[in-house]
Amino acid sequence: MSALADLWTGLGPGPGDVPAISVRGMRKRYGDLQAVDDVSFDVASGDFFAFLGPNGAGKTTTISAIVGLVRYQEGRIAVLGHDVQRAYRQARLAVGLAPQEFNFDRYLTVEEILRYQAGYFGVAPGVARRRAEALLRQFSLWDKRQRDVSKLSGGMKRRLTLARALIHAPRVLILDEPTAGVDLELRLELWELLRGLNRQGLTILLTTHYLEEAEQLCNRIAIIDQGRLVALDDKASLLARRSQERLELTFQAPVLELPPALAGLDASLELGGLRLVVRHCPAADLPRILRALESQGHHLEDLAVTRCNLQDVFLALTGRPT
Ligand code: ATP
Repeated sequence: MSALADLWTGLGPGPGDVPAISVRGMRKRYGDLQAVDDVSFDVASGDFFAFLGPNGAGKTTTISAIVGLVRYQEGRIAVLGHDVQRAYRQARLAVGLAPQEFNFDRYLTVEEILRYQAGYFGVAPGVARRRAEALLRQFSLWDKRQRDVSKLSGGMKRRLTLARALIHAPRVLILDEPTAGVDLELRLELWELLRGLNRQGLTILLTTHYLEEAEQLCNRIAIIDQGRLVALDDKASLLARRSQERLELTFQAPVLELPPALAGLDASLELGGLRLVVRHCPAADLPRILRALESQGHHLEDLAVTRCNLQDVFLALTGRPT
């Protein structure tokens, strides 16, 4: 990471207690559709912040508003204290955006993509060259630097998207589903890179449908549903909201109906009745449930008791899987 760390030297310490991102009462309508409805949250400097929500919840609209790509009708958004509508240039310089869709000019080489982006942000050519080299080496793209972007694999394009977002040495990085469609190995590799960048002081806001990703990487989490924030908390506090256990029972033969012993519990049958999941199961209920199932002739193949994860919290808050 040392070459990459040099990217941020010379920028000086971040601005005191000004939030990296501040969103206050933001509302965005598309025609009759209220896509974002009175959303407020702060991302503190140094945070690794997850912005979660089901499809169409308003995540991309919010991110686009933060980077000045979408004009909102009400509220205020500031990046490092710069209002994104009134001081667009300063606010935009503070943020690097890695969008969900690849939007490279397919006739450019990897190196040209970084050079053009640096030019757009007013980075001097000598500085841009040094940064491009550090980033391409860090993201294992150095030996591909002369290659047309159209010839890169999906995983290489993902890494190039990140490198491009960082070429102007922003203090804040916004990632819209950075590991969508990548294989497990690359996902783990990207997680390591992102953790490293965050450790160097970069503030990161990330949207993802992989709740495990948010659970692994982030320290704060916001959940948006139908344009409204339904949760905003530290990860640990959010997970603690569901302090009970999750019970997963596998049977030797399908169970066709939820047994009466489970009345009043958040339980469902899966895999055609071969698996029973009880969410938020009070630990004290466990022996009673197991006895009742055995006495009704439902013989267990396997039993797993786990702590609630973010997926359970998400389901409880939005009523839908992400
Ligand atoms: P996903 O996880 O599927 O990417 P999202 O949470 O990012 O979803 P948005 O893309 O912000 O959601 O969309 C929020 C709502 O606004 C959706 O109902 C979407 O159809 C609508 N929307 C988004 N962009 C536009 C647009 N340019 N014109 C009209 N409606 C739009």
